[in-house]
Amino acid sequence: MKKLILLLLLINFSVHAQQKHPAPVHKKAIIVLTYDDALMSQLNIAIPQLDATHLNGTFFLTGNITQETLPGWRNAFKQGNELANHTLYHPCLITDGKGNPANNSANYTVYTIIREIGMMNNLLHVIDNEKTHTYAYPCTESKVGGINYIDSLRKSAIVKYARMGGDQNAIVTDYNKLDPLLVPSWAVVGKITGDDLIAFVKKVQKEGGMGIFMFHGIGGDYLTTPAQAHSELLNYLNQHRNEIWVATFKQAMDYVTSVKR
Ligand SMILES: [Zn+2]
Repeated sequence: MKKLILLLLLINFSVHAQQKHPAPVHKKAIIVLTYDDALMSQLNIAIPQLDATHLNGTFFLTGNITQETLPGWRNAFKQGNELANHTLYHPCLITDGKGNPANNSANYTVYTIIREIGMMNNLLHVIDNEKTHTYAYPCTESKVGGINYIDSLRKSAIVKYARMGGDQNAIVTDYNKLDPLLVPSWAVVGKITGDDLIAFVKKVQKEGGMGIFMFHGIGGDYLTTPAQAHSELLNYLNQHRNEIWVATFKQAMDYVTSVKR
């Protein structure tokens, strides 16, 4: 009887240990939730929903952090979320003449974009005290001033991992072929339901591998995913913890690159 109790205790202990330190090797799918542009709806809706389901995501912040929002981001980090680099000014190619020409990526050089990513890393370090930060290309553009800067970014070594865009087929199944500075994700846009989001997760579960969501507004702001759809996705992920590892972008990429042959 004593032996049985000891055995049960051991099983119980190992189950808890597993929950605390998820072993991705036993899970069929890795899901990464990412949120771009430091939006208010992420602080007001996405983060409380993540907290309620004990899940974490990666927030690709810009320099658009104010005295009012700073405590919220810092708190999100303390809850286990990742704060990551999306440049200071979010330069994009302006083709319609609208927008601030100072933030037109056509007017950038490889030097100015890499300098800016470095400055954003410094700002993030002040917020979360982390030594390294992951990156997401603004507007999923890999060029500035007509020149591709991915290899210059690689040589600079200021970021190890960078997220790109993609569609619902952006599932990484072969980690050996993955360029850590060109990691695809599903840019969620348009009329989206919880079922649409869950269908992507199920596809990742079926194929085995890593699937990354790229969200913007959650229940507000722009490129908005309805709060209800986001909540349904988190509930599904929470209910399938045994098969799915929900990781931050950095955690997932550290794992993916470690199992690369
Ligand atoms: Zn963005």
